[in-house]
Amino acid sequence: MPGVPPVVTPDPAPASAFIALGANLGALRATLEAALAELAAWPGIRVTAVSSAWHSAPVGCEGPDYLNAVAAIETTLTPLALLDALQAIEQRHGRERPFVNAPRTLDLDLLLYNDQQIRTERLTVPHPRLQERAFVVLPLLELAPTLVLPGLGPLSHYEASVRDQALTRTPEPLAPPHSG
Ligand code: AMP
Repeated sequence: MPGVPPVVTPDPAPASAFIALGANLGALRATLEAALAELAAWPGIRVTAVSSAWHSAPVGCEGPDYLNAVAAIETTLTPLALLDALQAIEQRHGRERPFVNAPRTLDLDLLLYNDQQIRTERLTVPHPRLQERAFVVLPLLELAPTLVLPGLGPLSHYEASVRDQALTRTPEPLAPPHSG
């Protein structure tokens, strides 16, 4: 008697998301590269592209310059599970939050998750004021020049208004993570 075929529930299509990475304490480039490798190794996350690394002056605080980048990922994690992953990776890098905008070893922000708009106690997506920050807008434009921000319109419309912020693209790309 032929066996009953198993019922296979197809995996949901992965979501497309963008993560901002920033560091301004310690070995900046090594920290960002380690964070990318940890993201790529996280179950349910695939890193599909990484922007250039950009130096930026800190916003709203004193301190050393930041090194920033944006990663494009595909993920089967929910937005909150993805935030948990980002916070766990931050913690591994010894991030402390003694005060708002304090210098940080590693900062990981969820910028966008598909075209979702999320507003909960723990999570706001698109990330608040992302369109006002050159260190997000310019690396994101490298990865997705035609991106439309949910509720905010085309990303390219914001380029001119952030161009006056001090930001320098580093010529050397970050070492790409080996996706698992
Ligand atoms: P920050 O110190 O800037 O990394 O902010 C961390 C806090 O922002 C955490 O309490 C998060 O729950 C909250 N948060 C809200 N929306 C986001 C987001 N899109 N990405 C990362 N953290 C977020």
